[in-house]
Amino acid sequence: MIRKFLFDGIPSFFYQYDTETPFVRCTMCETSLVLANTYIVEKVFKQNKYLKVSEIVYEYAICLECAGAAGDEISQESRQAITNVFNAHRDHLTMKLDYLHSTEKYNLESWLERCSFTGKEIRLCNEYAVSCIVENGNMVFEQGPMVVSDEFMEKLQGVLSAETKRAFDKIRDKVFDGSPSIEDIIFSPTPGLI
Ligand SMILES: [Zn+2]
Repeated sequence: MIRKFLFDGIPSFFYQYDTETPFVRCTMCETSLVLANTYIVEKVFKQNKYLKVSEIVYEYAICLECAGAAGDEISQESRQAITNVFNAHRDHLTMKLDYLHSTEKYNLESWLERCSFTGKEIRLCNEYAVSCIVENGNMVFEQGPMVVSDEFMEKLQGVLSAETKRAFDKIRDKVFDGSPSIEDIIFSPTPGLI
């Protein structure tokens, strides 16, 4: 059973890395997130195997309009293929959500320990993406927060059409604003997909 539980505020994990405060503007359209009822935060990490720490690669906050617009860029063909990948992993997600809600484990650690779709342990991922929804200043426990393993990102990437990949590249360029090359990153903006 999926419930909805509001965290009191936003866990610092989802704060902006540089400022150590919550995001204030949508990364895409720069609208104020303080005024937006709902927005999504996504962070992508790489595991530094030598130092045994996760390093943030990029992060962004996106308002619902921009998330919707990103979703619209996905071609019909890709959308169907993505749905198929999600459906193939839906049982795992449902089981996980069922367990977390029924035991009321409303803490980030429990939600972010393993990939929401494959169950792969995050400490074993080279790369992973974490996202959450914020509603009126509070993080929402419902379908998410979600964590996507490199394994699942690769599955998604594998089925996207060239057209959709180009659309994602545009979003990526906007997020990075021409800053350091992140070509080696598996980029799949989950908020646009889900
Ligand atoms: Zn926006």
